[in-house]
Amino acid sequence: MIDKLVIANRGEIALRILRACRELGIKTVAVYSKADRDAKYVRLADESVCIGPHQAKDSYLNIPAVISAAEVTDASAIHPGYGFLAENADFAERVEESGFIFVGPKAETIHLMGDKVSAIAAMKKSGVPCVPGSDGPLNDDPQELKKIAARIGYPVIVKAAGGGGGKGMRVVHSEAALSNAVSLTKSEAKAAFNNEMVYMEKFLERPRHIEIQVLADNHGNAVHLGDRDCSMQRRHQKVVEEAPAPGISTEVRQKIGMRCVNACQEIGYRGAGTFEFLYQDGEFYFIEMNTRVQVEHPVTEQITGIDIVKEQLLIASGEQLSFSQDDIGFSGHAIECRINAEDSETFIPSPGKISLYHSPGGLGVRVDSHVYSGYTIPPYYDSMIAKVITTGKNREQAIARMQGALQEMIVEGVRTNIPLQRRIMADQAFAQGQLTIHYLEQKLAQS
Ligand code: ADP
Repeated sequence: MIDKLVIANRGEIALRILRACRELGIKTVAVYSKADRDAKYVRLADESVCIGPHQAKDSYLNIPAVISAAEVTDASAIHPGYGFLAENADFAERVEESGFIFVGPKAETIHLMGDKVSAIAAMKKSGVPCVPGSDGPLNDDPQELKKIAARIGYPVIVKAAGGGGGKGMRVVHSEAALSNAVSLTKSEAKAAFNNEMVYMEKFLERPRHIEIQVLADNHGNAVHLGDRDCSMQRRHQKVVEEAPAPGISTEVRQKIGMRCVNACQEIGYRGAGTFEFLYQDGEFYFIEMNTRVQVEHPVTEQITGIDIVKEQLLIASGEQLSFSQDDIGFSGHAIECRINAEDSETFIPSPGKISLYHSPGGLGVRVDSHVYSGYTIPPYYDSMIAKVITTGKNREQAIARMQGALQEMIVEGVRTNIPLQRRIMADQAFAQGQLTIHYLEQKLAQS
């Protein structure tokens, strides 16, 4: 069993990992930048190490600094959380080379899934449905490009193999615009990701975002924990997530879930992971795999009763999964609202001191947050300050509880998106469910 763990992250996920460690009796080491030296979770950890100045590149992204923190504290493992170094194959490799356990998949798996062209090829091979596309990288030959696009059918989307965060993508509606779009995306991809490889897919016009959570151990066992719907997005950033995905039957969920389980076994996946799909007209289309814990993991925990972070730590310790697919049940409905320190209308970040903080509570309400009255939100990192998760026996009750929780929640001193979340929870179309990934932006554009 891991005896001491370095939490190589900050904010709510650092606290979330710390809580799982406490339950398992694992000692914790918080690493922090100078901007986070007063964070409460840093004091809650058994030990803490400052790894650099506020700039993420010199602290949370500084591989030698994180590894030295593990060395000086004699820790046995490193949990990367999400963001920062979580999907950096080089980091995972160096952690293991230095003799520590990396809480996540093998470096080669991160590498395979980090390149979307190789990820799609691996998924196709193991029977996971993908978006009709170019079957590999595009070259510059205009005739060849036209042929591929004609076969797929317009509109198509040109995407960077190394892309992330919704960047490096371009939709093409006609043959006339194709060649230029490919060269532009290539040069953008080269500049942003130092990888000019691009590929082409059918552009789906009204999809939902539905993803499958998986867990796999080092002994060939894998399970899925059902689906989540994360279609409420702004600029490709998720705003609200829920589980299960509305309107998906148990049979359909089981079928796509088992395809993902099978893929995990084929690629030798280890740890927690998410298969992201676009879903349209009753079909799932794989877009990418996240090889880490996700922000929205709590909604799955709420309806399965499985602590995903604890399972990550047990798997990393070499344990076998203690349950099989048949042991996993789904009960009720859970919704997560991300609370960001940003203006609810302009979305301009609003860092600074929280003068008053009151967290909501009551039956079926969970709040994952590291903030408190008097906490200063640094301007250097993500603006998410809390996740409010409500659970009910059905979706209606989860929404009603979320409405209550958002009424109760008080964050003063900074601006937050709580007003926007209240609007979404009161929205008639949201109450119906099954909205596409464009719904929220269309709603915002109308107001
Ligand atoms: P990233 O790694 O940058 O998040 P993804 O491949 O996950 O890139 O795509 C991000 C988002 O872009 C998707 O959630 C979806 O909104 C849109 N998108 C990507 N591929 C397609 C597609 N083939 N059709 C329609 N929308 C797409």
